[in-house]
Amino acid sequence: MLEVFHQDSDRLDEVLQTVQEWSKQFLKDLEQLPVVKEVPGIDAAEIPRSGTGALSAWNLFMETYGEYITANTSGRYLGFVTGGNSPAALMADWLTSVLDMNATDVLSVSFQVDRAAIACLHRLFSIPPSFQGTLVTGATMANFTGLAVAREWWGEQQGVVISEEGTSVLPAFEILTCQAHSSSYKAISMLGIGRKHVRKIPVLPGREAVDVNALEQYLEQHPGRPHVFIASAGTVNTADFDDLVALVALKARHQLYIHLDAAFGGFAACSDSYAHLMNGWAGVDSITIDGHKWMNIPYDGAAVFTKHRDLQLRVFQNPGAAYLGDPAVNFNFINYGPENSRRLRALPIWFSCMAYGKDGFSDLVDQNIAWAKQFGQFIERHPNFKLLAPVHLNVVCFAVNIPSDNPGEVTKRFLTNLHVGGEVFLTPSFYNGSPAIRAAFVNWRTSAKDLERLQGALEKALEQL
Ligand SMILES: *Cc1c(COP(=O)(O)O)cnc(C)c1O
Repeated sequence: MLEVFHQDSDRLDEVLQTVQEWSKQFLKDLEQLPVVKEVPGIDAAEIPRSGTGALSAWNLFMETYGEYITANTSGRYLGFVTGGNSPAALMADWLTSVLDMNATDVLSVSFQVDRAAIACLHRLFSIPPSFQGTLVTGATMANFTGLAVAREWWGEQQGVVISEEGTSVLPAFEILTCQAHSSSYKAISMLGIGRKHVRKIPVLPGREAVDVNALEQYLEQHPGRPHVFIASAGTVNTADFDDLVALVALKARHQLYIHLDAAFGGFAACSDSYAHLMNGWAGVDSITIDGHKWMNIPYDGAAVFTKHRDLQLRVFQNPGAAYLGDPAVNFNFINYGPENSRRLRALPIWFSCMAYGKDGFSDLVDQNIAWAKQFGQFIERHPNFKLLAPVHLNVVCFAVNIPSDNPGEVTKRFLTNLHVGGEVFLTPSFYNGSPAIRAAFVNWRTSAKDLERLQGALEKALEQL
């Protein structure tokens, strides 16, 4: 019984060495590996009646999937907003799996690491102590948590405890935004508010930032009602920022809760040159920050900061679980976020902060923005491309500038050409209703050579159109 587990355990040196050797080679080969590769449908292997251990699973995995593994963690993968993995974060992530601690136990070292990692984030971003941080799996769950607190706040303003009563006793909840990320819409669905109850406030001309006057007008037209606004620090298309100072000023005149999605844009706060974009953010009610993007930790990890600790506890507490103690008395992170059992995801954050320090992150942010600006200039000067918005931060949003009745089709063919060799990866989007392409720079590995390869790949894809 359990023989195969024990055999594996006896061969642990070989098991761990196998993955270590392979990992070293993979990370050394990143420059040569494709960052995107088409994968055919692969038949899923049946679970065997009797297994033959970790090394045979390894072999089977490599035989089946190995040739399709892509270097998403390389500096040439510029799709979505995808960070790499820094050596310190990788080391910590391995350790997290080795320790396999459930970070719920306040008496264990995991609780101390959790607190220390959050304290590092407070310092790194200069987030005031009035915000309490909680680690979650990603910005989607951070937005979910912030908006759950917003919903509780909205009920509280009307004398209803939504975490107990639900929302049905109140008139429909309306959430205001102009450019909320799709994950906020997902959160709104998960929270039972309903995506149809999002009201879009106009943006400023030529921007992806809210017209604060239009928002104020709307609030004035609906007096005596609490409102929730989802603000953006870094939109995915053009990394645009809402004017947080002006938004926060509205709170003095209106019953307004502001949730700030700063998933990647929050990292502007690390840089002396770009921190001003975040001015005013200390006045919002909750903040989302992603770890697996610009912090360059492996998936997955993010943080949510809120000022409404009591409301957050009301939503997320585990009442009546005797072994967890009284949530109001015994502090435990599991009573402030959606997950109960939790991986020790604080570890990669803590290691990264200690290993690279504040200067490391400000250099990383400045360097990535410099690449984005440089690439933006290349696009701007190129007759066959069109820069769709100024490069505010680290995202370049552009279009293929070739006359056509069907620009969507041209964009699609261009991207297919671009991705064939696996040299670079960019993602399609829509900007102002027109087809667009974006390149997002958030990886510490991205180099001048990667930029050259990117530009070369774009030229080649154009030629093949
Ligand atoms: C990536 C992103 C999200 C969603 O984050 P996940 O980490 O994928 O859950 C939310 N908001 C913004 C602005 C993002 O860039």
